[in-house]
Amino acid sequence: MKYRKVGDTGVEVSALGFGTMRFKDADNAAAIIDRGMELGLTYFDIGGAYSFKSFDDNAETWVGAAIKGRPRDSMVLSAKAQCRPPGNAKQERGLGLSTRDEMWQAIETSLKRVGVDTFDFYQSWDMSAPEHFEVTCEGDNSPLMAMREAKEQGLVKHLGFTSHGKETDIIEWLKKVPDFRTITIYYNFTDRYCEEVLDYCQANGVGVNIMGPLRGGLLVGRSDVFDKYLPELKGAPMQEIALRFLLSYPAISSVLSGMNEIAHLEENAAIAGGDETMTEEQRKRFIDAFTDLTGGEPLCTGCRYCQSACPEGLPVFMLMGIYQLHEVFKLSAATQQLSGMAGNARFDASKCTACETCVEACPQNLPIPERMEKIAEFFEEARQKKA
Ligand code: SF4
Ligand code: SF4
Repeated sequence: MKYRKVGDTGVEVSALGFGTMRFKDADNAAAIIDRGMELGLTYFDIGGAYSFKSFDDNAETWVGAAIKGRPRDSMVLSAKAQCRPPGNAKQERGLGLSTRDEMWQAIETSLKRVGVDTFDFYQSWDMSAPEHFEVTCEGDNSPLMAMREAKEQGLVKHLGFTSHGKETDIIEWLKKVPDFRTITIYYNFTDRYCEEVLDYCQANGVGVNIMGPLRGGLLVGRSDVFDKYLPELKGAPMQEIALRFLLSYPAISSVLSGMNEIAHLEENAAIAGGDETMTEEQRKRFIDAFTDLTGGEPLCTGCRYCQSACPEGLPVFMLMGIYQLHEVFKLSAATQQLSGMAGNARFDASKCTACETCVEACPQNLPIPERMEKIAEFFEEARQKKA
């Protein structure tokens, strides 16, 4: 396994980390953690809401049981709780917190469930919109106060946040709250909307962990579209290309994968532990290939600026992203997922009236209505094949 520095915190973590959100049960968690630690994984991204069945039966307690008795310095533990405007707190799961006291309870509960005295990192979970930042960080009674106090008392060593937010917001929040020393963001070669965040973090000593490295399992399998552009990686499965792409960024500390199968864990660990990632030159060639593949048309970056734009309620960014993986990157997992969406009213792209509201919201002014037409045609064909 390779190890990487988390910004300027002085902490080192395995290049591949445990995302703990997909553990099936306590036995599955134990098996994955045992094998993962044998393979050198050290970084754990923990959340009280993951696989929550009850206060004593959830991914946090499963991790706690699996690491019991192991030397504390053989692992780097990062826990988190989510902050939202008052009224919807689910304290047991660490969700919807809005006050200093609620955050204190969440930190203490997580420490108890995992069975440790201190967390290496504690993150505000899914701080993705300005209102989330306000409730987390503003005012004397804010959850951030509890995070700072826990740090002063040694219960938490470093603070951070996870986010699906806009890159301008993420950078602004890092500037406003410089004690956030690590972030966890959604990023992969097809969702590159926060590339500038990586540059900012690299320049300012902030660690970056990556969620969604394989876009929920879609960036897998074989596609020959890159053979011409990256002949050195010809024949490599897409998951290898995707992970090497991420590890080519020096800003990235750990790539988190929600693994619940030993085979996937071993496959990912072999890539993250290998000597080769992707050089910066290869990464540039890889990204330049996208424009060539589309005949010069920009790709959807997954920025979600169009998220609530559609008056017909279409999830534009989801449809655009999956269609692009099918159409441009020729990934069979995406084609399969798209076929499965045919006939589902939520994704019925034929509802598009070409009003262009989404195009106005899109920083790249992508020709979304044209793509909706193509998606609707794809769905129609898929429906006919199913019939
Ligand atoms: S152009 Fe189509 S997809 Fe875009 S907002 Fe209008 S109806 Fe929705
Ligand atoms: S369609 Fe445009 S606005 Fe929507 S996610 Fe893609 S790039 Fe962003």
